[in-house]
Amino acid sequence: MLLSVNDIHKTYQTADGPFAVLRGIDLTLKAGETLALTGESGSGKSTLLHLIGGLDGPDRGEVWLAGQNIATMDDDGRAALRRGTVGVVFQQFNLIPSLRVADNISFQARLAGQEDQAWSAELAERMGLRAHLNKYPEQLSGGQQQRVAIARTLAPKPRLVLADEPTGNLDETTASTVMDLMQELVAETGAGLLMVTHSAGLAGRLARRLHLKAGRIV
Ligand code: ADP
Ligand code: MG
Repeated sequence: MLLSVNDIHKTYQTADGPFAVLRGIDLTLKAGETLALTGESGSGKSTLLHLIGGLDGPDRGEVWLAGQNIATMDDDGRAALRRGTVGVVFQQFNLIPSLRVADNISFQARLAGQEDQAWSAELAERMGLRAHLNKYPEQLSGGQQQRVAIARTLAPKPRLVLADEPTGNLDETTASTVMDLMQELVAETGAGLLMVTHSAGLAGRLARRLHLKAGRIV
């Protein structure tokens, strides 16, 4: 099993008192599997993704990723995992403005000590970015920026790809093209894909679907 989430709980402290966002979440994902996570705005989808990606720790429960329980790791351990094993694609692209496209694509692979120039070049080619490698992110359209972000995520060959509404800022046609490319490349690498979306259409592209409501999977 690539990913096993066991009885995860997360409560945020707010001005109105504690707010239990996740109240006992279980899910599993095998290598090569694709899973959509749906739910209304505010249902805790991003929170759950952050816990799985090691961006934050749960109050209770276990997150087993490639044989390690990341819920008990310290910050350094989680950071190492983020660099190598897990890749995250965000709705807001999150490219580094001061770096050219080519260096944005290589950035995480370099940090992880896993740079494979042939693979980075192939990703750029397949993502239709070859003519844009010397440009800066601000010179690209939204769809192009998200393709850079996906290439950057896939460059270190992560075993698990997490995507948080990756096409939420794109028009429908561009979103569909970007999804096609992301799914194709993820499938080729054999990684697992867990994607948050509020779109039933996009969720329907993935093999399984879980719905989050009132802090639980329903
Ligand atoms: P979704 O991604 O499904 O829209 P989120 O996981 O972003 O939901 O947020 C779930 C709930 O938790 C929301 O009500 C949000 O306002 C709240 N929340 C998210 N992050 C924090 C935080 N750091 N502190 C307090 N409340 C938060
Ligand atoms: Mg969200």
